Amino acid sequence: MSKPIKKLAVIGSTGSIGQQVLDIVRDFPDKFRIIGLAGGKNIDLLSEQINQFHPKIVYSAHKFSLPVNTKFSSMEDVATHPEVNMVVIATSGKIGLTPTLAAIKSGKKIALANKEVLVMAGEIIMKEAKLRQAQIMPIDSEHSAIYQCLHGETCEVAQLILTASGGPFYHHSPSKLTKVTVDEALEHPTWKMGKKVTIDSATLMNKGLEAIEASWLFSIPLSKIEIVIHPQSIIHSLVEFVDGSMKAQLSIPDMRFAIQYALSYPERLANYSLPRMNLTRLNSLTFETINYATFPCLQLALDAGKKGGTYPAVLCAADEIAVELFLEQHIGFPQIAEIIDKTISLHQSIANPNLDEILTADKWARDTALNSVAR
Ligand code: MG
Repeated sequence: MSKPIKKLAVIGSTGSIGQQVLDIVRDFPDKFRIIGLAGGKNIDLLSEQINQFHPKIVYSAHKFSLPVNTKFSSMEDVATHPEVNMVVIATSGKIGLTPTLAAIKSGKKIALANKEVLVMAGEIIMKEAKLRQAQIMPIDSEHSAIYQCLHGETCEVAQLILTASGGPFYHHSPSKLTKVTVDEALEHPTWKMGKKVTIDSATLMNKGLEAIEASWLFSIPLSKIEIVIHPQSIIHSLVEFVDGSMKAQLSIPDMRFAIQYALSYPERLANYSLPRMNLTRLNSLTFETINYATFPCLQLALDAGKKGGTYPAVLCAADEIAVELFLEQHIGFPQIAEIIDKTISLHQSIANPNLDEILTADKWARDTALNSVAR
């Protein structure tokens, strides 16, 4: 008997992940149907997506003319539409938080690409997901790898090992890092991603956010999460079990693997538009230890994660502002870490924060990060 079609809402459909989600939907028209789309500033692309996928409900910050069977509504309405089974959170930054929570509360399955959601409000999100028995499928390649390695395992885990490509500047000296340009930082050696994530990969902040996210998703303390540099991005992460045995998941670095797994789980779909890996043509797979001194963002993230409270929300907010300032060429690359460090050091954290307290800390951190830069 064929499985019922999965009905999806995609929050952030015009971004890098959102577009790749729609690539997968296009590959399997009998498996997935788009019910809702929420887009950002790229109205031309959103309009094209609407004409191709015929959603019933759309969120857009700017209004334009729609086909007769499609209507505009709020992002929350898109995430909670009664026909939707699974909500794909394909945004980056704080914006994904409210629709994720709304979707969980209305009992939807979540496919989560937006790491800040769990970093900012991991406790609230995971508690709510448990209460509603809402499944959260990770879309990040590392978390997808760990999810796949843990699948079917019931025994204790010794540690999770996240791999990091190291980004474009991993072997740069601190003095060379002061001179890197925005264009150079946006040239990721192995992954094609959105701008925010690409800059976060260059600073290694991305890996810190991923460690905190993994800690919530797999309920494992940060002390049991190891990070290693793996420049080829073929091994997407590993799990070491208590017996010392390790499991890894490998593929060509292409986000569609993690996206498709999250959408089709527990099925695996044969998709020949995804690149196949030829083991004999692979160059060697290498690993290096992390250089924390040259890339201070990673330690800042891990420390914020360990301290908890509103620190992780402040970390995310300060990082969003600092990355924006770097992209607009108001600050140099090393100042990203400096702004985040300064903002965190000024923060007075609240333990076990509720959503309002998290959002207040977020707002405070954005203002503080901006004010820390004389412009
Ligand atoms: Mg990743």
